[in-house]
Amino acid sequence: MNAIPEPEDFRAQAWQWLATVARPRAAAGEWGTGSDSVAVFENRTEQEEREHTARIQEWERTRYDQGWGALAWQDTYGGRGLPASYEQLYRSEEAAFDVPHRSEIFPVTQQLVAPAIGIWGSEEQKQRLLRPMLRTDELACQLFSETEAGSDLAAVRTKAVRDGADWILDGHKVWTSGAQVATWGVAVCRTDPDVPKHAGITVFLVRMDAPGVTVRPIQQMTGGASFNEVYLDGVRVPDTDRLGPVGEGWRVTLSVLAAERLDSGSLGLDNADRALDLARNLHRPLTDSEQQRAADLYLRTLVQRLIGLRVTAALVAGREPGAEASVGKLYATGTMRDTSDLVSELLGPRLVADTGEWGTYAWTEHLLGAPGYRIAGGTDEIQHTILAERVLGLPKEPVR
Ligand SMILES: Cc1cc2nc3c(=O)[nH]c(=O)nc-3n(C[C@H](O)[C@H](O)[C@H](O)COP(=O)(O)OP(=O)(O)OC[C@H]3O[C@@H](n4cnc5c(N)ncnc54)[C@H](O)[C@@H]3O)c2cc1C
Repeated sequence: MNAIPEPEDFRAQAWQWLATVARPRAAAGEWGTGSDSVAVFENRTEQEEREHTARIQEWERTRYDQGWGALAWQDTYGGRGLPASYEQLYRSEEAAFDVPHRSEIFPVTQQLVAPAIGIWGSEEQKQRLLRPMLRTDELACQLFSETEAGSDLAAVRTKAVRDGADWILDGHKVWTSGAQVATWGVAVCRTDPDVPKHAGITVFLVRMDAPGVTVRPIQQMTGGASFNEVYLDGVRVPDTDRLGPVGEGWRVTLSVLAAERLDSGSLGLDNADRALDLARNLHRPLTDSEQQRAADLYLRTLVQRLIGLRVTAALVAGREPGAEASVGKLYATGTMRDTSDLVSELLGPRLVADTGEWGTYAWTEHLLGAPGYRIAGGTDEIQHTILAERVLGLPKEPVR
């Protein structure tokens, strides 16, 4: 096993490598130059989404092939067996370089689905799927939510019925991010309707190009269509693509959801920093109320970063950061909301009428996109319930 480098040495090596394959980002502080996009969900056509995805894949493959992807994975899967916190160290160096900004399907594949396969997959599935997913040759989306099963995910109705060596899937999933570009979908299905709802669930890996899979994009108010409805009509899935034991799908699902909360803690920080830059660059004195909001937002970004460090510390100590992750996710959506409030006050009418001025109307895309993250990956209310029950030890919600 390779020795673990000191964090500072590792950061220096990462920086040196990055400098050989990417250009440094334009220096901070150059207000008014470069892109002013603060979009939470990009407004792209399907063709543009595919092209952008291909650019990110090219970058992720370079990283993986040169030993800077999959850092926390064993070398069997192309990794370096480093502590999970080294991934964050690497990311903080990468942020200084001009590399393609990962769309949602990438963390879903690498940070949510691959680890779930690592925990629940058979040896054959690990050998077949982990390298292509970590290298992003194959991308995976979450076929979890349905119209009647969101917060109450265990109420899924999509059926999977055994047929010899296969299963036949029938149902309708909704809000599936990235389904158009995914090779695989992780589908939460009901395999036994006669037992309590959490016990009758099984998870399957479904090829998105299998006969019977239909993807229908849903146009968002921000313009793009990264969410989709996915229809599963008599889709045949081999038993070798079942993830985890029959009837134990709820535990598999929880593994994915826990990883999703963990991944959400840094959401919104870049745009909060950008909003504070906006406040500095207005070329007029701020009102008292604007100053208060700006100072509050600044404090929030500090606290959110500290929560992120606690999550890292838990990982370093080999502990599952359960509660810290829920706090981090809630905090992040609050930061996004407070960013919207500050920007609305600073810009007023310039936010709703496009004058062509750099860094003004572009904020509309933050305001319209930010509320989505109060819902995605478990709503704010559900995170509150998790904290109330698991951290504060309050009485549990009655099971419906
Ligand atoms: C940006 C985004 C990306 C998404 N990506 C995906 C994806 O890739 N794959 C996927 O499967 N799904 C995805 N979703 C769907 C998401 O997981 C669900 O929208 C979410 O779980 C909420 O479910 P729902 O929309 O059915 O709302 P509901 O569950 O119907 O909730 C409606 C309201 O009631 C509240 N509520 C519900 N139950 C309780 C309770 N017990 N206590 C208190 N309040 C409650 C909720 O907080 C919410 O305010 C995404 C959603 C968004 C917004």
